[in-house]
Amino acid sequence: MPKKYHITTKAAPLDLEYVFKFKIVRGENCINCGKCTKVCIYEAHKRQKDDPRKMADPNTVLCRNCFRCIQECPRGALEKSLDKDFTNIGGAFWKPDMLISLWKQAEDGNVPVSGAGYRGPFTGTGFDSMWTDMSEIVRPTRDGIHGREYISTVVELGRKLNHLTFGSDGQLVSNVPDSVALSIPILFDIPADNLSSNVREALVKAASEINTCIIMPVAEITLEVEKYSNNIIPCITPMAIDTYEAVLKKARLVAIEYSDAMLNDFQGLKEKIKKLSRALTIIRVPAVKDVEDIITKLAHNGAEIIHIVADYRGKELNGSAGTDVRRLKDIIRAVHLRLVEDRIRDEITIIASGGIAMAEDVPKAMLCGADLTAIDIPLMVALGARIYEEPRKLLIFPEGLGKIPLSIVTQRMVNLMGAWHAQILEMMGAMGIREARRLRGETGRAIFFKEIDDDTFGNLFRKREDMSL
Ligand code: SF4
Ligand code: SF4
Repeated sequence: MPKKYHITTKAAPLDLEYVFKFKIVRGENCINCGKCTKVCIYEAHKRQKDDPRKMADPNTVLCRNCFRCIQECPRGALEKSLDKDFTNIGGAFWKPDMLISLWKQAEDGNVPVSGAGYRGPFTGTGFDSMWTDMSEIVRPTRDGIHGREYISTVVELGRKLNHLTFGSDGQLVSNVPDSVALSIPILFDIPADNLSSNVREALVKAASEINTCIIMPVAEITLEVEKYSNNIIPCITPMAIDTYEAVLKKARLVAIEYSDAMLNDFQGLKEKIKKLSRALTIIRVPAVKDVEDIITKLAHNGAEIIHIVADYRGKELNGSAGTDVRRLKDIIRAVHLRLVEDRIRDEITIIASGGIAMAEDVPKAMLCGADLTAIDIPLMVALGARIYEEPRKLLIFPEGLGKIPLSIVTQRMVNLMGAWHAQILEMMGAMGIREARRLRGETGRAIFFKEIDDDTFGNLFRKREDMSL
């Protein structure tokens, strides 16, 4: 049995001001009876350290919103109210609740519990419009997640052969291409600009600790992070290859921004890199309207790994306007199916990014046809950053973040990935899937709301519409 992959999480509180959903306030009429310390299983209520006769301020970060302390306080001394800053953050895609959830996961690495149950809608846009078939949850195969059987989240990046050829003497004749294995199907993507040096170094260190890689602009690979070269994917334009020869030599993977010229001469570019380095190439292709055509051509031209990059809300770039704009879920499905039709899907690796906001989006993207995903904004949110969508994309970091010790900043990102890994294992166990590689394109385990809605009610409503004509 392979050694179990484990992400070690531990509490890493960020002693900075950031927003929470509710404010809990202890009123003057509190008699310090301590009942709230007993009823809150999340330990949000504690006595003051220096004077245990008195209660400390409630720790809102730990609150899971169950309302038990409010109900059981004998004096009605606790008041919970919606924080007005909370309602202003995020936007239509990055909903405030998502940010709170990410902050909490980064705090201690635990899987979030809503406490008061889920009261939201059961469908939405993008990945929220698909569900996963968790029917294995009631079957013995679910034992896997309790430790008796191993569930592997390992994925491999690289070009693969669609068959092996053996000589008449039984020896392998095929030249098997190199690949890079990652323990989790999540890469860290190019981080935001203007990051302080401790945050930049922490990102690289966290990627190394969880055995994944981070894609970084080649010019930002400084001496402090060079020692992690195994976990850094330099991102480069074809023009800059000669300038950064030394960096490319050490890399296992190199990301190249797509340009139309690659459609004609990708082989030439690949050979140029192969002369300098053994690194595998990732082509970063923006998720534009005809992205499936571009990717199919690149795949036939020998591309090894292709990274589909949608916008930060998981939308198609420069695509159709209004409600017709495709979401990452639909883009991945279109690319995957086109490659399947062309019988070349098994030969290349597809990474998907843009709008991967929560742990469940990772297996969902893979069920749609991606081999793995890449994330950026959730890592920044883990550090207490707020995102605003309107009137334009804005990421605001808490003041003083640059002075927080490297170990805390790193641990928060490791915690986030620990919580996501635990959730991915839960989902895979409940779907009866033992290896992350098998998630790719496994739409038999996915339920798409539109399809089921059409199947169930489509005719009914169509008939009514016809009758009204
Ligand atoms: S239960 Fe109410 S009265 Fe008792 S310590 Fe908590 S807030 Fe104060
Ligand atoms: S609402 Fe629930 S989780 Fe929050 S502080 Fe009170 S008892 Fe704890």
